[in-house]
Amino acid sequence: MTEHQSNVTSLTALRTWKAIPQSLRDKLVRNVFCGKCKGAVEIVDFNIQQDKNSLILRGKCRICSGPVARVVENE
Ligand SMILES: [Zn+2]
Repeated sequence: MTEHQSNVTSLTALRTWKAIPQSLRDKLVRNVFCGKCKGAVEIVDFNIQQDKNSLILRGKCRICSGPVARVVENE
């Protein structure tokens, strides 16, 4: 089964994301590295994509609005 990759959050990705405890999700969202800000920032307006063994959050830096992404490994 192949899943087409797009910029839209897939149902599978969303389901996996929602299965992560809220407190952990909050922590992940607020701890994304931004190359411009040179530090951990909060990701906003992000979508979620499912990779093989991980989730990828893609969105914007809350501070500079630059593109940021975060990989969430599935344990
Ligand atoms: Zn930034």
